[in-house]
Amino acid sequence: MSSMTICARFRPLSSKERRDHGDTVCIRCIDAETFLFKDEKDEEFTFSFDKVFYEKSEQAQVYEFLAWPIVKDAVDAINGTIITYGQTGAGKTYSMEGPSILVCDEQKRGLLPRVVEGLFDCIKSSGGTMKHSIKLSMVEIYMEKVRDLFDLSKDNIQIKESKSQGILLNGVTEISVSDPAEALQSLSSGIANRAVGETQMNMASSRSHCIYIFTVHQEVKRDDRLKTGKLILVDLAGSEKVEKTGAEGKVLEEAKTINKSLSVLGNVINALTCGSPGKVNHIPFRDSKLTRILQDSLGGNSRTALLCCCSPSPSNALESLSTLRFGMRAKHI
Ligand code: ADP
Ligand code: MG
Repeated sequence: MSSMTICARFRPLSSKERRDHGDTVCIRCIDAETFLFKDEKDEEFTFSFDKVFYEKSEQAQVYEFLAWPIVKDAVDAINGTIITYGQTGAGKTYSMEGPSILVCDEQKRGLLPRVVEGLFDCIKSSGGTMKHSIKLSMVEIYMEKVRDLFDLSKDNIQIKESKSQGILLNGVTEISVSDPAEALQSLSSGIANRAVGETQMNMASSRSHCIYIFTVHQEVKRDDRLKTGKLILVDLAGSEKVEKTGAEGKVLEEAKTINKSLSVLGNVINALTCGSPGKVNHIPFRDSKLTRILQDSLGGNSRTALLCCCSPSPSNALESLSTLRFGMRAKHI
């Protein structure tokens, strides 16, 4: 049975939000799991999550609660997924990367550098009985095409499934990393490549899903077996609704494609959390590239964490409400 942790995170008000609405926020904290949310018509809703990270929450708290258990398990060959969801500007990339993945205050470092460190720490503390190695891939999904962020010439990676290895990205670049510094260097080159590709395609980063894949191989010396844990981090495309009237052409196509893949993700998570034990229900992994890639780190014996990122400003209430509802729908009923 897969386990699912669903959290909400509110970033601090931006200076623009402060200018337009002063210090007003649309949330009122009740406790660490529950808050009241007021929409633009002053209607109040109560939301509960496994944990709520308010404006003053620290990156380290998010990591400890949401990522650390998954990191530990990945080293024990249990697959896991960590996803950030929300409208553009809600704090997905800040939560994932921090202000910069290579240089920033220790306090502000995001999930990604902390995950890297956590993986290597776990390996170190596992002692001499096992030999571990870590490989890293980075891809981006734009308009349902998978691009290799370590090699932009591979711009249409196919997804395959093998009996022994599970879901595979055919021909994707895998970089072996032997310490945290090396891993962060690779990640930052992938992030830089992403920006290059976006400029070439005239696309904004908020229009694609960015996927970081850590494969942790574990060789049990005693009996020569090789076990593998896959840890996938996903910085999703912005979930905002594009104005039905305004958008046309490419922007409209992008919006439709993103909407579809996010709604498939919601359906998959919902099917995973709402399935009654013993009953096989259909899980629509194949309905999008994203869920197909996540198939064996979302379903089965795996751990998933979803961070629903929101602005606390009344001016974004509608989008925040939609993000929170996505999270609620994903929760076990
Ligand atoms: P997204 O990736 O969802 O589009 P970003 O992560 O880029 O949004 O965040 C938008 C802006 O808000 C950035 O300037 C970012 O630095 C800031 N921000 C987001 N979350 C936080 C936070 N928890 N604390 C401080 N600043 C934040
Ligand atoms: Mg972003």
